[in-house]
Amino acid sequence: MTNTLLRDLDNAHVWHPFCQMREFVADDAPIIASAEGFELIDTDGRRYLDGVSSLWCNVHGHRVPEIDRALREQLDHVAHSTLLGLSNMPSIELAIELVRRAPVGLTKVFYSDDGATAVEVALKLAYQFHRQKPHPEARDLFVGMSAAYHGDTVGTVSLGNIDVFHRSYERLLFPTLRVPCPAATRLPPGFDVDSWQQHCLDELERTLAANAGRIAAFVIEPLVQAAAGILVHPSGYLRRVRELTDRHGILLIADEVAVGFGRTGTLFACEQEQVVPDFLCLSKGITGGYLPLAATLTTDNVYAAFLGEPASGRTFFHGHTYTGNPLGCAAALASLELFEKNHVLDNVAECSRLLTQRLAEIRDWSNVGEIRQKGILIGIELVADKAAQQTFAPGQRIGHQVTLAARRRGLFTRPLGDVITIVPAPAMPPELVNRLCDRLFESIREVVVEQE
Ligand code: PMP
Repeated sequence: MTNTLLRDLDNAHVWHPFCQMREFVADDAPIIASAEGFELIDTDGRRYLDGVSSLWCNVHGHRVPEIDRALREQLDHVAHSTLLGLSNMPSIELAIELVRRAPVGLTKVFYSDDGATAVEVALKLAYQFHRQKPHPEARDLFVGMSAAYHGDTVGTVSLGNIDVFHRSYERLLFPTLRVPCPAATRLPPGFDVDSWQQHCLDELERTLAANAGRIAAFVIEPLVQAAAGILVHPSGYLRRVRELTDRHGILLIADEVAVGFGRTGTLFACEQEQVVPDFLCLSKGITGGYLPLAATLTTDNVYAAFLGEPASGRTFFHGHTYTGNPLGCAAALASLELFEKNHVLDNVAECSRLLTQRLAEIRDWSNVGEIRQKGILIGIELVADKAAQQTFAPGQRIGHQVTLAARRRGLFTRPLGDVITIVPAPAMPPELVNRLCDRLFESIREVVVEQE
């Protein structure tokens, strides 16, 4: 099939997520045919460094021999069988390995398919838990952060708070309480960094205390709100959330879909504040970025509330067809082994230092606003006026223009509005991280700096 025909067929039939299709069709996006290491290769043979690890999920690169082999071996046994009423070997082995690595006390693994379902499962479990615990309570509220993002199902959108993504569905959503994100970015008038962080802690304390008996769970992306534009929480915030949720009997749901599997420097972000959540939601990097799979880990305490006779109504009536898919679990097991074998977290530490150094080169550029970093999660905000921190008009599509310039230089990245993200795979070698920076900085220069 020729490239032109493929392009026509794509345009005729495929609706791409999070894309204005009129723009997408005009953009002539590459059609990926294969990949090698940390590069994607299109149908014309052009190579693109995978600058956002295929949307924050790739870990060890593409076509990793150990993961490929694990999948082939699993294919010789079984590709899929259901977890509804049956078990399969890889899902048992993976549960053991996840529990072994997760914060102590998270002993039960409920599988699903993607990040949104991992969070949705936690929301429903938390809601039902309070009704079935030894002293039942009808808690019906959830608390989320401002600028939160937890996925695109109706439940997770209810917890979300990114206007451009979520406002269309407003009347469809259940009400949630919201506390302000403590990242000190674009502070409201009258606040400096310290007073803003104190205000956020006060609001957190006030909101939880005022509604304590009604709140089922607090939902948070630990340490970094990724889709909000890499907003980094001050250290100690997560710890404080755990103290207060414990005080009020509120369950804590840690959405580590984006931050999990090494991207903040530790395998799980919660480790950095010695926090054990009641639910740990995992997806994206769980299979090394190979296959859709998710896991919601929880405690014996939550699990116990769901035990009873079949007619007791205590069952968790939730499940997806491909839950615990053996191929996904086999890929995940191989990926976890590689974390240790290849010392991936050491590489994250080295690349995160390297990125800090490289980002210093562009810090003073006139259209580079705030640069935010946690580990290897980076957001570079492009602004029209640096002193006034004034944004570009949305119609200018500056972030998108940088993406197109990067593509011409052999780099794939995807912006969040005018925040350019760099999210390399945790195992990307430092020399490729350097190449990624070179290509990105040239692209930013072409689109914004050279136009002055
Ligand atoms: N939670 C977080 C923190 C995310 O960043 C995302 C996806 N970017 C999701 C949940 C949803 O994951 P998925 O797209 O796999 O449903």
